[in-house]
Amino acid sequence: MKLKCPKCSNELNHIDSTYKCNNNHCYDLGKSKYLNLYLSNTKDHGDNKEMVKARANFLNQTYYLNLANKINEIIKSKEITNLVDFACGTGYYTNIFKNTNNFEVYGLDISKEAIIYASKSNKLVNYIVASTFDSCFYDNSVDCITNIFAPIKLDEVNRILKKDKYFIFVSPNPNHLLQLKQAVYDNVYLNEVTTLVHDNLELVESHDLNYQISIDNNQGIKDLFLMTPYYYKTSISDMAKLGKLENLTTTIDFHIQVFKKK
Ligand SMILES: [Zn+2]
Repeated sequence: MKLKCPKCSNELNHIDSTYKCNNNHCYDLGKSKYLNLYLSNTKDHGDNKEMVKARANFLNQTYYLNLANKINEIIKSKEITNLVDFACGTGYYTNIFKNTNNFEVYGLDISKEAIIYASKSNKLVNYIVASTFDSCFYDNSVDCITNIFAPIKLDEVNRILKKDKYFIFVSPNPNHLLQLKQAVYDNVYLNEVTTLVHDNLELVESHDLNYQISIDNNQGIKDLFLMTPYYYKTSISDMAKLGKLENLTTTIDFHIQVFKKK
């Protein structure tokens, strides 16, 4: 796919280890061949190194492999020539999509640390540090967008997606990670189901996927907690409750929605 320059929107051309537009805006490839198109003055954005490590450790234990397989099954049922994984993190799902299908795959995340990790893990995926709210793709150019547990800007999905093509959105159901939350909080709130509404995106499929996972070591439990959004909102005293927990069986409950662009 063609990529657009984040400064002037002209096409970027890949020349050796650089991407360059005809206004001479230049973006060098990182050591592990990832591209950084995120324009920001702040140095750190998205997951930091510790969070990336926790995410990678947890996902590499295959607790979420069922989810990856389910999404992949949906993808395989569609006609797709390219796929963009929004907020791809460490590339766990992205790599599975690339390794088991025959189309171009891009992974976007604003966390440079996550993209460095992802780009080292798979050279066949185009990993890019970029915002999914203002992405580097042209209008009507993408066949499939996946977004797993991340905030989403539907106008951007609608802009880059081709007509009659697909947006796959995964969010937690109310009981997702219930027992993990019960281990930490005195008052547990159930997750609210995310409702997406956009005039140009039609819901064509939805699936629920639930099962139990058992984690038998403290580090694994902490890794899981670190990759949840609860991590940001939890007091030190509540966090301390995880300190000695060695075993946890918890409910995994995903909601998968497939939208088609009108
Ligand atoms: Zn430019």
